[in-house]
Amino acid sequence: MKEIVDFLHNPQKYQEIGASMPKGALLVGPPGTGKTLLAKAVAGEAEVPFFSISGSEFVEMFVGMGAAKVRDLFKQANEKAPCIVFIDEIDTIGKKRDNGGMGGNDEREQTLNQLLTEMDGFDGSKGVVILAATNRPDSLDPALLRPGRFDRRVPVELPDLAGREAILKVHAKKVKLGDNIDFNAIARAASGASGAELANMVNEAALRAVRDGRKFVTQADLEESIEVVIAGYQKKNKVLSDKEKLIVSYHEIGHALVAALQTNSAPVTKITIIPRTSGALGYTMQVDEGERNLMSKEEIENKIATYTGGRVAEELIFHSITTGASNDIEQATKLARAMITRYGMSEEFGMVALETVSNQYLGGDTSLACSQDTAKEIDQKMIETVKTQYEKATKLLSENMAKLHELAKYLYEKETITGEEFMQILNS
Ligand code: ZN
Repeated sequence: MKEIVDFLHNPQKYQEIGASMPKGALLVGPPGTGKTLLAKAVAGEAEVPFFSISGSEFVEMFVGMGAAKVRDLFKQANEKAPCIVFIDEIDTIGKKRDNGGMGGNDEREQTLNQLLTEMDGFDGSKGVVILAATNRPDSLDPALLRPGRFDRRVPVELPDLAGREAILKVHAKKVKLGDNIDFNAIARAASGASGAELANMVNEAALRAVRDGRKFVTQADLEESIEVVIAGYQKKNKVLSDKEKLIVSYHEIGHALVAALQTNSAPVTKITIIPRTSGALGYTMQVDEGERNLMSKEEIENKIATYTGGRVAEELIFHSITTGASNDIEQATKLARAMITRYGMSEEFGMVALETVSNQYLGGDTSLACSQDTAKEIDQKMIETVKTQYEKATKLLSENMAKLHELAKYLYEKETITGEEFMQILNS
């Protein structure tokens, strides 16, 4: 976003070297995280006009109106360039087009086509930057994401502890506060809340103060308002209870610790227990796999052990297991299967392709290319592979119990920790 601002300020700097700015950037994130605000802030920082339109405005239009409106918007933008064009809820017009064509929404399709035409048509060096926001990036038509269109993605995620504290302070400026407000404590209790929810909390607290006939907001008002807002949102958003938070902390540290203790595993870069809209309650980020082209058998085995690490930690500490490992199980299974059927890494089958991949760019489905007897053997071998790694992870974590406790407590407190913090504690 800073680069876009800089480009709008000094376009000649980019033109001289022959670089052209991406035409569009997609702001992706859960509702209430401030995507619209961010787009407005970019326009404000760059001191350029801001044109905005919401995808939902097109839904109930007469045929042909949507396309005309898009044309009109881009005509205005071209006249006022440099400027920012912001399309909110782009998924309402940019949904994947179905190939059937029967009973499709012609109006939506026409609007989308017009948008694509306009994006391809305008000259990027003039300084029209298109920002679009969505909380459903997976539903977008791939044509929108092609190079030269929205080829940049800016994740706008739920704020972490430090972020929540800062957001609370911004909104608290608008209300009269009593003395000694502990924003850190409020932010801590509001784990999983979005920026919009935090704004709502501050307002609820102010309303409560008025109800009680006071002239200022107290700590108790704010604490009470968290419950009001979160209880109201609990079904929609994932806000973890303290017990759940502790389990997720141990689970995530379990992954990270197993990864770090195996020499060939990539080091951890970030661990967080802020719930994601994807449904994950926590997240351990390892060095990007995209840059790895080759993986050794040992590395894959270590990876499987790392996937099992979360569940192992839960079992060792709480002596009970949760549903939190479902995605880990899926990933570990996929790897173990691929080792045998596609990478020729088992002694039993050697270099025989037992599975073929179809549609590599559309989900990468695999289909078995072997007899039923062999399929049965593959299943057995696969189960054995995962089990072996599970046992390895159990051994690693049992031997490093003190570190597991120390790191999990630290993560529980901080909610998001970096790889450096993690390694510092591990090596201390
Ligand atoms: Zn996990």
